[in-house]
Amino acid sequence: MRSRQRMFAAVMRLLLKCLRLGRRRRFKLVRQVEQLWHYGHLCLRSLFYNSFTDSDVVLDSLFEPVYWLVDHVTRWFGVVFVALVIGLTSSIVAIVYICLLPLILQTYTPAWICWHLAYGHWNLIMIVFHYYMAITTSPGHPPQAKNDLTGVSICRKCIAPKPARTHHCSICNRCVLKMDHHCPWLNNCVGHYNHRYFFSFCLFMTMGCIYCSISGWEMFRDAYAAIETYYQTPPPTFSFRQRAFHKSVVYLWVLCSSVALALGALTLWHAALITRGETSIERHINRKERQRLQKKGKVFRNPYSYGSWDNWKVFLGVDVPRHWLTRVLLPSPHLPHGTGLSWDLPPCVTEQRAPLLAI
Ligand SMILES: [Zn+2]
Ligand SMILES: [Zn+2]
Repeated sequence: MRSRQRMFAAVMRLLLKCLRLGRRRRFKLVRQVEQLWHYGHLCLRSLFYNSFTDSDVVLDSLFEPVYWLVDHVTRWFGVVFVALVIGLTSSIVAIVYICLLPLILQTYTPAWICWHLAYGHWNLIMIVFHYYMAITTSPGHPPQAKNDLTGVSICRKCIAPKPARTHHCSICNRCVLKMDHHCPWLNNCVGHYNHRYFFSFCLFMTMGCIYCSISGWEMFRDAYAAIETYYQTPPPTFSFRQRAFHKSVVYLWVLCSSVALALGALTLWHAALITRGETSIERHINRKERQRLQKKGKVFRNPYSYGSWDNWKVFLGVDVPRHWLTRVLLPSPHLPHGTGLSWDLPPCVTEQRAPLLAI
């Protein structure tokens, strides 16, 4: 009886020992799996490691296919938009030459004829020159090679130095000096070297549209009244030529007045930005910075603003008074101040200001 009890106790001890061993093995296996998982995770992360990675980069990466599609569509639409600008402008010029000019020459006094011929042609030359220059001039890009630029950040897309005021354009897929925005109507970025051409084009196009709307108002009223009589009974006996004339005048006036309103608003917006010495992108950056500093009780000062008047002189490249005629009122291919890589005080700025630092 006692030997049986002893045997039972020995079996129980062995069983307990076995159970302990199984538990230890299970722990060992779990630890091995855990180590393998950590090792695999580390290997995977090391393949995609980037010290700049944050939630924005992850979100950007997830939306990359959408950006790719939008960028490609915008790039393709750029060509269509440029063709549209050239086509619509040409149609207006053709209507003015074919329909309106003979009428002006027949009915107006010599003084008014001279005014219309001089102003109309000057305005047309300014529009064509500035549009051509805006679409063909490169906005300027920072050098890709290693250089001695100081105080610059690095573009995460180009992996290259990014000077102050430079921003990356996802449509052009390049960094652009003093980038304002990517303009589909130019199929080009607006930056350091073509910002003046872009603004001058907007300004002269608006002026041209206002000129056509004002000088064509009487003709538009008559043509519109004539078109309304088309549906009377009996219908009026207008010839094909007269009907084409009426429709052309209405088309000209509606298009010019619409463009004058839309482009006029855009031109005013850009004029306000130029007065403040800001680009469209800097407008948002500076507003945030202004709010941030305001909370701390500090005042934000735009380091690229030299005062309203000097901002315009720097933007237009007016160094001496005669430049208002030769560089602003006449077509001029002069280059802007500086290289767009660093922002030193331009020579035409009258006020003495502290040297600027690249941000
Ligand atoms: Zn870039
Ligand atoms: Zn661009």
